[in-house]
Amino acid sequence: MRPNLATQELRELFKARKLTYVFHANAIETSLSFISQNALISREAASKNNLPQANQYTDEIDQKHGIYGDLFFNILDHHTIFKAPNVYGPVTFTIPFEQILILLEQTPGAAINITRKNPEKWIDSEADKDKWYSNVQEFESAVFVYEREDACAYQTKFPIPDIVISGLKDGLSLDLVTRIKIEANPELGKLYTDFRYVAEKIGRREQVRKIYARDNCKLECKCRNIEAILKKKYLLPKYKFGEWKDRLGQSLYEDWVIKHSA
Ligand SMILES: [Zn+2]
Repeated sequence: MRPNLATQELRELFKARKLTYVFHANAIETSLSFISQNALISREAASKNNLPQANQYTDEIDQKHGIYGDLFFNILDHHTIFKAPNVYGPVTFTIPFEQILILLEQTPGAAINITRKNPEKWIDSEADKDKWYSNVQEFESAVFVYEREDACAYQTKFPIPDIVISGLKDGLSLDLVTRIKIEANPELGKLYTDFRYVAEKIGRREQVRKIYARDNCKLECKCRNIEAILKKKYLLPKYKFGEWKDRLGQSLYEDWVIKHSA
């Protein structure tokens, strides 16, 4: 059995560390499915409902470990911390952590857990106590070893923990999301405008208003270097509109990226 961490203790820890938000990054195709459903939903829920989602090689691993139906969040915004395009995809949803805690406290059967390392690195023979932090104190002492209160220092030194939410039948409503940021190198401008265009067709107006271009990165951020982005083959599929393109029959950014990466 995996543990269920105490929400009040997490609330106090995040407050003490001045952490207000958690982040979920994903591919263009999957993120548009979230917008169409007005909720962040699990890989399993998207698959059951025949919603477009980008391929993810971890699906099989997630199914084996019983986390395929869960939602994953990061404690920090990886684009900002690593100064590079997010490996999970160019769309980052920002959610106040307090909103998630309140939802968990109001939802019978819902639970929050934190992984000791990325589930991709779990091995079959590992016990649950080796996969998950058993309690909030254990998580705090393993991860927040610096005096710095902004908590940014730990990410590069420790295995990156995932916050895992389970038991939310309808996913996490986009009403709780405050921002939807799209990576926007000036040469990827069409990615942003096309994302917004599709979102306007399939999503609610109040959610479309939350979409922003991530266009204020400094030159040192790798997202400013279009050549470097195009060279990273694992990133390109995450920029594609995939099935949404077929459903809408439009000429979208995808055509641009295929032309330039050929
Ligand atoms: Zn950037």
